[in-house]
Amino acid sequence: MLQPASAPPGENDCLRGAVLACCPQVMGGLIFTNLTRQIEIGANCYCLDLAGKRIVLDSGLHPRFDGAAALPDFSHLPDGTADAIVLSHAHQDHVGSMPVLMRRQPQAPVFMTEATRLLSDVMLHNSVNVMMKKREEGVTEYPLFTHREVDIAFKRWRPIPLRTRFDVTGERLLPGEDAELSLEFFDAGHILGSVGTLIRAQGRQIFYTGDVQFDDQTIMQGAQFPEEELDVLIIETTRGDRATPQGFTREGEELRFAQAIKTAFELAPSDQRVKDILKADSEYAYRFLHSLISKAIKEGKISKEEDPELLADYFISTWTGWHESYILHKDPVKIKKMGQYFIKLISR
Ligand SMILES: [Zn+2]
Repeated sequence: MLQPASAPPGENDCLRGAVLACCPQVMGGLIFTNLTRQIEIGANCYCLDLAGKRIVLDSGLHPRFDGAAALPDFSHLPDGTADAIVLSHAHQDHVGSMPVLMRRQPQAPVFMTEATRLLSDVMLHNSVNVMMKKREEGVTEYPLFTHREVDIAFKRWRPIPLRTRFDVTGERLLPGEDAELSLEFFDAGHILGSVGTLIRAQGRQIFYTGDVQFDDQTIMQGAQFPEEELDVLIIETTRGDRATPQGFTREGEELRFAQAIKTAFELAPSDQRVKDILKADSEYAYRFLHSLISKAIKEGKISKEEDPELLADYFISTWTGWHESYILHKDPVKIKKMGQYFIKLISR
């Protein structure tokens, strides 16, 4: 017999709306408990009780709060009672408190895709570094976990391929093989490794989407979700309560973004925020902007002849030395040269 995941809610404990924070929702043998403290993106964490098993979905960390307030509300989830933990993807609001949850639930296997396993390792080690810095700034509760604890957590993570049924112990199930409760991952199209999870138990199908993207992105295809009938859908959304603006397209947004970058550099090269962006020297930004701007040029939306400065800006933004020559000296000859060099580079 399972201990309840939460005390019965008092009338005032419940928040009205699509999500009822911490109030267990009882649906014919299925209990859904939301451990997220806020009704917004944050420390996402949900508990499902069904078929005599307890499954925890995700364990995030709220980006706008510090210390224990950034954690899910684990007081509604008794320690040592989860049968399995599922991680939908490696974003901080889904994985950020995973080592804390695992410390409280040491018996539970943790399932995710291989890509999520590798990404989460990087994310959580980085998170320790950030928490150590915040500790120096006075947040004494930090770090919530250590590098060593992340290493130990990593060893407990069980990678599962897409579209493969498995049970709560991680055992793969043969086609048609019965299990009291089975899980199966489907590509959620959101980030590398992201999944929606189909849970089948006692003849019922429950689907947890995690974050989801149905449109193809530059390096990701859109979600490939199951098409079979569902009994319960647990869906996450940040924009689900408003319609897509008329005329909205991905291509249009890419162009708007490329033009916004161009305008920012043209109008405010001395603006501190622009300087900060320029200083953010990252390979990711380089590749992303490269693909964005070269696509716009290829499609004739940005003229390469007319925009050497834009390209120079973008090039500079990734290489600090060049950034300094631009910001500090604003040397037009150098800028033009860099622009021409870069046009050559991406015209190949
Ligand atoms: Zn996400």
